[in-house]
Amino acid sequence: MNIATPIAHGCCDHRFEPEHLHPIVSKLFMPSGVDGVYGRTGAYESVIEALAALISRHRPESAEVFRFAPVMPRASLEKQGYLQSFPNLIGAVSTLMGTDREISKSAAKHEAGGDWTEDLKPSDLVLAPAACYPIYPIAAERGVVPDQGYIFDVAADCFRHEPSRHVDRFQTFRMREYVRIGTPAQIQAFREPWIARAQGIADVIGLTYTVDVANDPFFGRVGAMMANQQREDALKFELLVPVRSAESPTACMSFNYHKEHFGEVWGLHNAAGDVLHTGCVAFGMDRLAVALFVTHGVTISDWPASVRAALNL
Ligand code: ATP
Ligand code: ZN
Repeated sequence: MNIATPIAHGCCDHRFEPEHLHPIVSKLFMPSGVDGVYGRTGAYESVIEALAALISRHRPESAEVFRFAPVMPRASLEKQGYLQSFPNLIGAVSTLMGTDREISKSAAKHEAGGDWTEDLKPSDLVLAPAACYPIYPIAAERGVVPDQGYIFDVAADCFRHEPSRHVDRFQTFRMREYVRIGTPAQIQAFREPWIARAQGIADVIGLTYTVDVANDPFFGRVGAMMANQQREDALKFELLVPVRSAESPTACMSFNYHKEHFGEVWGLHNAAGDVLHTGCVAFGMDRLAVALFVTHGVTISDWPASVRAALNL
């Protein structure tokens, strides 16, 4: 496989993509000029919608549905320790503030060949790096968690400041999650069957996959220790699909047990006063869509009938 052929339309840096990904990139994505950010075609979006509907058909009966904005309060991210774990991935919203005169002066710097961005000030928003983060404070705000715990269905457009030389690593991407809040036994009873159920979903859409223990990309030297511990405790599993290559398959779904992390941060507790645990199953919608196009080809009408039937496409 040729690993280093430039893509003809290339404005972004896809020289590092294997050959078989070139038609995907050029037919389904419109380059924006920035790596990892694309315009998406109608065909691509129809697959995202079909996947979302398929996942909804597996929604746990008692799940409450929320859809979140692509931004979230900066204070929430700070409170939950994101600055310690993933400072390199943060994207924060900054704006021009001040009187009309001050704002005009800043904006005018650009035409004068100057740097208007030096006047930007951090706002109280950051870009959401995961779909589930806003749900924990919402649940905590309700007070004592009922004994059966909670199940939520959440989704958001997420941002991570990722080096995005590869088409399966976006800076902005859609994430869908089922989130469980409850006792350790309830989280276990939620996550285990989901690992099996998710493989059933991958089967009906014709994806080849492996499931393996994984770790989050914790930052720095302390982060490496946290990542090792996470693996040792088997807190994260991923469903991996050979998108770029079989040797380094792409995580398209993850199954996460956060233990008491979010429960402690947000004060989630039951009537007995126990700090509750949380877990989630996350679907990387854009990675699943890319995996489908890589597996079955760029033309949806050529996909296997069983796959199109499973997706109502
Ligand atoms: P990776 O190990 O690939 O960096 P992660 O462990 O950071 O992923 P999670 O935090 O578990 O990923 O996110 C849930 C899901 O969101 C992932 O399984 C993946 O499908 C998707 N995802 C994560 N990062 C990206 C990205 N940069 N581009 C596209 N999808 C992503
Ligand atoms: Zn989550």
